[in-house]
Amino acid sequence: APALRLRQISKRYGATTALDRVDLEVYPGEVLGLVGDNGAGKSTLLQVASGAHRPTAGELCVQGRPVAFGSPRAAAAAGIHMVYQDLALVPTQDVGTNLYLGDEPLRGGPLRYLGVLDKRRMRREADQALARLGVRLGPTSRPVELLSAGQRQVVALARAAVRVMAAGHGVLLLDEPTAALGPEQSRQVRQLITRLAGQGVAVVVVTHDLPLCFAVTHRVAVLHRGRKVADLPTAETDLDA
Ligand code: ADP
Ligand code: ADP
Repeated sequence: APALRLRQISKRYGATTALDRVDLEVYPGEVLGLVGDNGAGKSTLLQVASGAHRPTAGELCVQGRPVAFGSPRAAAAAGIHMVYQDLALVPTQDVGTNLYLGDEPLRGGPLRYLGVLDKRRMRREADQALARLGVRLGPTSRPVELLSAGQRQVVALARAAVRVMAAGHGVLLLDEPTAALGPEQSRQVRQLITRLAGQGVAVVVVTHDLPLCFAVTHRVAVLHRGRKVADLPTAETDLDA
């Protein structure tokens, strides 16, 4: 079964049709690029897949099982993880702690365990996870607020990756993960996506980054005015060989 299957998804905002009967399938280990003009419906589709938004019509299945719309919690329990552009890291905490924390630390989530959990253990586990992902961020004892914007983006992505890997399978939804990144961080993001896919994770990545599309995607779907107008295989190009 596909890791993620969206069937006949439509979403209207009043008179605006953001999505019009879109079908999308992503298999374990597959990376799907999602491209299109601004306003084409890419974010809306990710929001629907992540459980954040309820579509006007359609179905969402994970590993062949239906998942309720409108509940990020239900989607996360089914194995869907979204990395938002606005990151949601805790700036004053170190990298290791941020990797260990859940998605909603500021809403009474795992942050309340901060005093209880062993920080050294968190950092050690974070270091191991980052090494497996081939990500280099410097010491995981550094507070996130001392990192560059690009490094923070890599931390946010690594955090979602750690969670998906812990589950052993799942779907990672990425919204413009390399927007505003320099070449070194872009390279790390590409490598991270490729390694995750190698471990069986299904990835959907909204992007305008052509090198990323060519280097890591297996397929690219094109949205135009809310409709999927193309869904094509891509030839993987090894940029970093
Ligand atoms: P993209 O991510 O491809 O730029 P979006 O999914 O953000 O496209 O938007 C698709 C369409 O839906 C656009 O016409 C946009 O203006 C509209 N839209 C998105 N969110 C809302 C909203 N909350 N209320 C009304 N219209 C919206
Ligand atoms: P929920 O997951 O709570 O059902 P929706 O996905 O329906 O939320 O809506 C997400 C956002 O889009 C909200 O900010 C909501 O106000 C807005 N929205 C939903 N439906 C419409 C609509 N028909 N026209 C304009 N905005 C809408």
